[in-house]
Amino acid sequence: MSGIYIHIPFCRQACVYCNFYFKTGTSQTEMLVEAICKEIELRKNELKEAVETIYFGGGTPSFIPPQAIDKIIKCVKENFTVSEIKELTLEANPDDINESILKQWKAAGVTRLSIGVQSFYNSDLKWMNRAHNAQEAEESIQLALALGFEVSIDLIFGLPESRDEQWRFNLIKAQALGVHHLSCYGLTLEENTPWKKLIDRGTYKAADENKTTAQFEWTMEFLSRYGWEHYEISNYCQPGYKAKHNTSYWQQKPYLGFGPSAHSFNGKERSWNVADNNAYVEAIQQSKLPSEKELLTPENKINEYVMTGLRTQWGINLETIKSMGFYNQNFENVLEKHLQEALLKLDGDAITLTNKGKVFADAIAADFFV
Ligand code: SF4
Repeated sequence: MSGIYIHIPFCRQACVYCNFYFKTGTSQTEMLVEAICKEIELRKNELKEAVETIYFGGGTPSFIPPQAIDKIIKCVKENFTVSEIKELTLEANPDDINESILKQWKAAGVTRLSIGVQSFYNSDLKWMNRAHNAQEAEESIQLALALGFEVSIDLIFGLPESRDEQWRFNLIKAQALGVHHLSCYGLTLEENTPWKKLIDRGTYKAADENKTTAQFEWTMEFLSRYGWEHYEISNYCQPGYKAKHNTSYWQQKPYLGFGPSAHSFNGKERSWNVADNNAYVEAIQQSKLPSEKELLTPENKINEYVMTGLRTQWGINLETIKSMGFYNQNFENVLEKHLQEALLKLDGDAITLTNKGKVFADAIAADFFV
C-alpha cells in the first residue's frame, strides 16, 4: 500500500505554537498548485504500487479553493495507479467549513476531514491565536458528520492558562458530538514560534509539565472508559476508524510527499522538499526537484523502527529486531530494566508501552537507540 501526501503551505494567520512551514494569505495559490501538479508529473515513476491513501496537510488545505484541491486529486489520478482510494483526508479549519465547501470536497473525492479544533473554549482559542471560535468548531463538526464525512479532530492539552476542567470538557464535548477519531497533542514549545518569543519577552507563560502529564493520563483513562482505542500515543479512534494514511507512516510503509517542505520515504531513503514557496516553484518550473535526501543506515532504520513502533499499540517485535541484527546484550538489559519498572510489557514477541510508560515514550525509545 502506498500513500501520497500533499503539503498546502498557506494559513489565514499564525497560531502561537506552530512551527510548520506556511505563509499567511493565499496570493500564491495558483502558482503553487501548478507547481505541485508539475512535481507530481515529474515524479510519476517513483511509485510502483497502487496509491491507496491521499492526505492533504499543511498549512491549511481548507484555506485554498476546493477547485484547487480537485485539480490536485485529478493530477494524482492521472499520474499514478489509483485503483481504489481507501482514504482521502483533508486537514480543515472550522472557519473554512460550510455546507457548500463540504459538498465540493465530497464531489472531489475527500472521504475524511481532520478538523483543527484544538479547544471548545474561546479563551483557549484566543490564547493560541486560532482563526475560529468555539461555536464554529462545534458547527463545523456537526455539518461534516451530517454530510457523511469520517471526522477526526485535533485537540491540544497542557495549555498554560487553561484549567484541567476545561480539558476534560473538551474531551466530553468531542465524545458527545460523535467524532470518529481524536488526535490529542500535548502542547510543546518549539523554537522559532511566536509562543517562544512571547515567553522570552515575559508576555506568555511556559507550560507546566506536571499539568500536561496529568491531563494526558486523564485522557487515556477517560477515553478507554468510553471504548476509544488508543492506537498511537497521540491518536484515539472509535472501532474501525484508525487513520489509514498515518498508520502506514508508523509502519514504515513508503509514501511520496509533494509541495514545499513535504517529506517522502521509499523504504531506503528519506527526502524532503525545500521549505520555501518561491524556491520550490522556481525549481519545479525548471523541471528540477528541489529536494535533499538521506540514505538510511541500518542504525537509522532500527532507531526509527523503535521510535515510531513503540508509540503504537502494536509496539516493536523481537523477531523483527533480531532480523535487523540488533538483538544483543544491551537491548536485553534495557528491555529488562523497563519491564521491571512496568514501563514496558512483553506479550509473545511484541513489546509495547504500558500507560505508565506512554508518559516517557521518547526517553524509553532513546534508551534502545544504537
Ligand atoms: S497550526 Fe495549522 S492553522 Fe495554525 S499556523 Fe500552524 S499550520 Fe497554520
